[in-house]
Amino acid sequence: MRRLLPLALLTTLPLWPQARKSVFVITDAEGIAGVCRQDLTDPKDAELRQLLTGEVNAAVQGFLDGGADEVIVWDGHDGSQTLSALTIHPRARLLIGALGATMTLERRYSAVAFVGQHPMANVRGGVMAHSYSSLGIQTMRINGKAMGEIETRAALAGAFDTPVVFLSGDVAAVDELHAIVPQAVTVAVKEGLGRYTCLSLSAETARERTREQARQAMAKVGAIQPYRIAGPVTVEIEYTTRNSLPIDAGLRPGAEVVDDRTIRYHGKDFLEAWTRYSLF
Ligand SMILES: [Zn+2]
Repeated sequence: MRRLLPLALLTTLPLWPQARKSVFVITDAEGIAGVCRQDLTDPKDAELRQLLTGEVNAAVQGFLDGGADEVIVWDGHDGSQTLSALTIHPRARLLIGALGATMTLERRYSAVAFVGQHPMANVRGGVMAHSYSSLGIQTMRINGKAMGEIETRAALAGAFDTPVVFLSGDVAAVDELHAIVPQAVTVAVKEGLGRYTCLSLSAETARERTREQARQAMAKVGAIQPYRIAGPVTVEIEYTTRNSLPIDAGLRPGAEVVDDRTIRYHGKDFLEAWTRYSLF
């Protein structure tokens, strides 16, 4: 005799198991529309807070429009003190504070997105371009190739099988992501003419485009492959000329002192080399 499921249970079961779609949004200030001067990147600046919050919330709305079940926003600029639970999109959750080497990516979100991202250090026409620290780091190289937040974080996400599907920032930041993830959906909110000179969209237009493109990015979840850097991997940090490595820097696990202000961490894969660097 066939056993039939109770009708009530049948109507609550989905047609097929659907994974919850979660988006992890990495935010920064230097790639937001209207931000072109260093003084405007002060996390306590009222105009910055408005500009950043508006663009972030537009992205959150776009991801939700596109079918995201959960959007987690990390306040990634300068000490995690620019965004506020008072003004963040009500359906987002705000991640506040330093994240350590893996940035919570071991939670295996469905996708990673960048909002307000700046390009890596030394890029021509990059608005306030830097790699992690404009005062501290001259150049960061992975397997000899110069990289900044975009490529290293894409690789970190890739180490946890998570693709990058969206980026907003200046033209140079958009180009930087497209060089490694051509299918990613992007919004160039400004064009850098120099380090502190840019041609920017209005906040309103930047938000409109961000919402629409974020919505479209959700359709690419599952279609875009995670970005991976194959092992073994070296992470080389050349600090700026005001820096000098500590005398025992060579004793750090997997470390090789290249010169007085350059250190190279070796790892069997990206995650191992990156974690060794992140410990210091
Ligand atoms: Zn920043």
